[in-house]
Amino acid sequence: MTTATPGAAPPDLGALAAALPEGALVADADRMDKYRWDRAHDPAAGMPLAVVRATCTEDVQAAVRWAAASGVGVIPRGAGTGLSGGATAQAGCLVVSTERMTAIEIDTATRTATAEPGALNIAVKRAAAEQGLWYPPDPSSYEICSIGGNVATNAGGLCCVKYGVTTDYVLGLTVVLADGTAVELGGPRLKDAAGLSLTKLFVGSEGTLGIVTRVLLRLVPAQRAPSTLVATFGSLDDAIDTVVEVSRRLRPSMLELMDRASINATEDALRMGLDRDAEALLLMQSDEPAPRGAAEIAEMAAVCEAHRAREVVTTDDPEEAAAFVAARRMVITAIEPLGSLLLEDVGVPLPRLGELVRGIEKIAAARDVLIAVVAHAGDGNTHPLVVYDAADVDQTARASAAYADIMALGISLGGTITGEHGVGRLKRPWLGDQLGPDALALNRRIKDALDPQGILNPGAVFDPAD
Ligand SMILES: Cc1cc2nc3c(=O)[nH]c(=O)nc-3n(C[C@H](O)[C@H](O)[C@H](O)COP(=O)(O)OP(=O)(O)OC[C@H]3O[C@@H](n4cnc5c(N)ncnc54)[C@H](O)[C@@H]3O)c2cc1C
Repeated sequence: MTTATPGAAPPDLGALAAALPEGALVADADRMDKYRWDRAHDPAAGMPLAVVRATCTEDVQAAVRWAAASGVGVIPRGAGTGLSGGATAQAGCLVVSTERMTAIEIDTATRTATAEPGALNIAVKRAAAEQGLWYPPDPSSYEICSIGGNVATNAGGLCCVKYGVTTDYVLGLTVVLADGTAVELGGPRLKDAAGLSLTKLFVGSEGTLGIVTRVLLRLVPAQRAPSTLVATFGSLDDAIDTVVEVSRRLRPSMLELMDRASINATEDALRMGLDRDAEALLLMQSDEPAPRGAAEIAEMAAVCEAHRAREVVTTDDPEEAAAFVAARRMVITAIEPLGSLLLEDVGVPLPRLGELVRGIEKIAAARDVLIAVVAHAGDGNTHPLVVYDAADVDQTARASAAYADIMALGISLGGTITGEHGVGRLKRPWLGDQLGPDALALNRRIKDALDPQGILNPGAVFDPAD
């Protein structure tokens, strides 16, 4: 499916152009180049046949109907910040971009937001905040990623340790199916037990089951101003033990970890005085009301000190707190200049976090590659970043081996190959190892039932050869 057959005449785009508004179809190679990649920078990206810059559900329907009739694969695309190669263009495919579908409406009576998929996460947060409401999920990329992409990957973030991930806020969807039908799922109801949980099925399906063209999101009252704690440690083990104990005793609204390589790359970028000699930095917040918030921060500080923290700093100053949170959010961007990256997203049950992080250290030593670790530690969700020089064939092979080792390690610890970024194309070979044959076959049956031609995001999550 979809990829261009060498020598064959490409499908005629005339009928598609006629079904779309002026300017929605782009087939110029220079203009299409930026639609080929996401932030995984998959070298296997191909040149699409065309890009549809959809303006509404009907445009997406027209694109999918044309693709189904022409036997052309469709790559749904939000803002292209994905880290698993899920939006990587395939040669001869049709990219359907939602970047022009950005409308947002807030309904204070039902406390919901209705957003088109191309609306950025930050725009939804801002629209909610104007009404004294809050949309919690906050990927580090929240300023640049789209709500449609967040739904498709079931994105997480920093506050998810207390407030949950994207699926916990999705009440309804409009989805264009593989035959071009647009289905309405869910609605502004906090409870709904009618039929199968189809809304949830589409969340996290990475564009392989349908294209999301409208999202109905649950909002909650604005978050209280949090208190913040930053602690540095001379040992990664002490930091991890702190995470496990804090999580057992308390419910922080943020619990993030940066290792030494992450601290140093971030300090190189920001020059904000982070402790370059620390082996780990923990960033915690409590948004409990006073005096409970102060008591929670004091208890977090006591746990840090009991685990030999080098330094513990607490603050209620929003600007100071924002600077630390911004530093944590920019770790991936700060590491990028060090080389090419293979980005992991391995998660484990919290008590096994220490085994995971120590195992990653051993893998880095055995494969002789730099692996920086940044983690939504309170969720047990780590982002080991394997850094390598793509011009060095041997190092590239060792980095790939380390990438595979880390996923195998995560699975052996009862964990997942992806906590929030999705399987995409880059983690697809390990999906069966995690799920096992029966659950993988069930996934495949659902995919085949909804997309019998295999035109939706071919190559992502599912192996087209299976
Ligand atoms: C610096 C940085 C930090 C990040 N931090 C986090 C983090 O903390 N937490 C986290 O979860 N992620 C994080 N990410 C990853 C990324 O931002 C998320 O995966 C995000 O949800 C992707 O959104 P997007 O709009 O960029 O989607 P894209 O990259 O465009 O697409 C992602 C996937 O969704 C599919 N898709 C997109 N739109 C639709 C649609 N309308 N219908 C159906 N399928 C669709 C695509 O086909 C693809 O499979 C980070 C990325 C960067 C670069």
